[in-house]
Amino acid sequence: MQIFTQTKHISDDAMGLHAMNDLPKSRHSRVVEHLSCCNRCRREFKKVQEFIAVLRMAAKADSSVPQSHSCSSTRTSRVRYWTKSSAIN
Ligand SMILES: [Zn+2]
Repeated sequence: MQIFTQTKHISDDAMGLHAMNDLPKSRHSRVVEHLSCCNRCRREFKKVQEFIAVLRMAAKADSSVPQSHSCSSTRTSRVRYWTKSSAIN
């Protein structure tokens, strides 16, 4: 895997790995060093970080679907109970 592209900027692969904290230590310091002095790569890296954050949130939302489903069904049965008792009164 290349850390730097031909234009001497950080490659997409390295950006992605760095954003996920998956970059090998030997390469990590070179990427951090480049980010500290290159506005262009800092901007790109921010985008990659945001993209990964969105992906992680989507993955979390997916795994919490059964939970939120059981929550809403509890709420529905409660509403049914209230409607029933108010009908009796
Ligand atoms: Zn750069």
